[in-house]
Amino acid sequence: MTAIPFHSAAPPSVRGACPGLSTPMPTGDGLLARMGFDAAISVEHLMRIATLAKRYGNGLIDISARGNLQLRGLTTESAQALENDLGGMNLPLREGVPVETGALSGRDPAEIANAEPLASAIRAVLREDKLSGRFAAKFTIVVDGGGQLPLHALLADIRLQATRRANALYWQIFLGGTATTGRSVGRVRDADAKSCVASILARLVAMTPPPRGRDLDPEQVRAWLGDAVSDKPAETVGSTVPAFGLLPITACPATPLSRPATLRGTETCDRRLEDGRATRPPPPSTHDPAFGGSAAAPENSLASKQKAGGEIRTPPIREDDAPFAVRIGIPFGQCHADTLIALARRAEDFGVKFVRPASDHSLVFFANESACRNLMAFSKDLILSPHDPRARIAACPGKPACMSASLNTHALGETTARQAADLLDGSFTLHLSGCSKGCAHPTASLLGLVGTNEGTALIFRGKTSDMPLKFIRHGQEERAISVLAALVRLERGIGETTSACLSRLGPARLEQVLSQGLS
Ligand code: SF4
Repeated sequence: MTAIPFHSAAPPSVRGACPGLSTPMPTGDGLLARMGFDAAISVEHLMRIATLAKRYGNGLIDISARGNLQLRGLTTESAQALENDLGGMNLPLREGVPVETGALSGRDPAEIANAEPLASAIRAVLREDKLSGRFAAKFTIVVDGGGQLPLHALLADIRLQATRRANALYWQIFLGGTATTGRSVGRVRDADAKSCVASILARLVAMTPPPRGRDLDPEQVRAWLGDAVSDKPAETVGSTVPAFGLLPITACPATPLSRPATLRGTETCDRRLEDGRATRPPPPSTHDPAFGGSAAAPENSLASKQKAGGEIRTPPIREDDAPFAVRIGIPFGQCHADTLIALARRAEDFGVKFVRPASDHSLVFFANESACRNLMAFSKDLILSPHDPRARIAACPGKPACMSASLNTHALGETTARQAADLLDGSFTLHLSGCSKGCAHPTASLLGLVGTNEGTALIFRGKTSDMPLKFIRHGQEERAISVLAALVRLERGIGETTSACLSRLGPARLEQVLSQGLS
């Protein structure tokens, strides 16, 4: 085995930074500005944002794993102009600590609970207690009600995962990691969830500096919460693959995707479905982002500039407008603005009004069934199925988009999806990373190819910073993947997955076969 210490790719100087609109981040192709939304936006807004990406940047747009839009190739001047233009669009921009929910929250017949009331309550705590600016830049809270688009794969400092016992709603609290790697504190009743999170946040900001979720001891947090947290053993969350394509959603007049302030305060669909033990959501806020407003924000922030115009004008959406949704994945999370402009234009032609950028590099459009089907037919070159091999590759922007990259991740991903689709059977995520930072897949993966100045590191069962199984020369990456694909075709037992097969063969055999195949 070729075991070379993995240190050759210098960490980017901006590591840990989280670019927003006001603080764009330098990358290989200029400045990058990021925006997240706490509600659906109109397809017209999507078209305008894509047009701005061409006007002010190089036209490349990322839809991140968390469903943020990232506009690339900006300059200092154009980033300022972009912020000004976006400020006039009345978008439900996310500011401060992200409190993330699924794109179908409150509309998903398969969800365990509507996550939005609890998420809104937590956002209100952060806002009213002025906590947001006091956490690390990437501190994130995930409130996952389950259903067709779970957030299991997202990293979270604090995760609240819906669960039911005897028809009563509980939230399982996890610290750090994903739904499968986070450490469980225990579960709390729905009625106590908001105050438990508020208590944890208050404890954290009293520390210097406030720690990340991964640094916390679950036992200590359990002690903070006292009787509110159950002392049941940790539960695990089964990993569910989010759906793509046509998704039936709940027609619920009281749970619109967005609506004007005057309509707020009615009972939510989720609460009507419950057995009467659910907590009453906090009083609706004038800027409740769950309903298309924007979270309270610092005076000079874009969100506050938006609000200077007064009334929140996000149009209402009625249940009969959108009994269906269609989730469309963007291969490797990046496309040219023209792709989004064409998609939004056709969506508008079909009568689709709303879209929400969603986790796992996707866009969720809301409409009637025929409009959704028309949009799927138009989007046949994008990802419409979890079985699309491109959906099983996590690739960062790579070369030439990022200045830290030593690997053209998208080109390699396209070739792999075409030539080794059978290797990508859904049992693992192939990670293609331009450098050791591992932006596209911060957790361990079965197989990863990581660009470095000296060559490409092939990682087996590890993170990008782990010891590589083998270093391969630049230009040999396709060959290495085809060698592994051929090995799996030869050795795979009946019903055996790629992950099980490669794990059974083990690192020594893989290294031997790669050495022979690449010589
Ligand atoms: S992982 Fe990819 S996007 Fe992230 S810094 Fe490295 S090359 Fe750039």
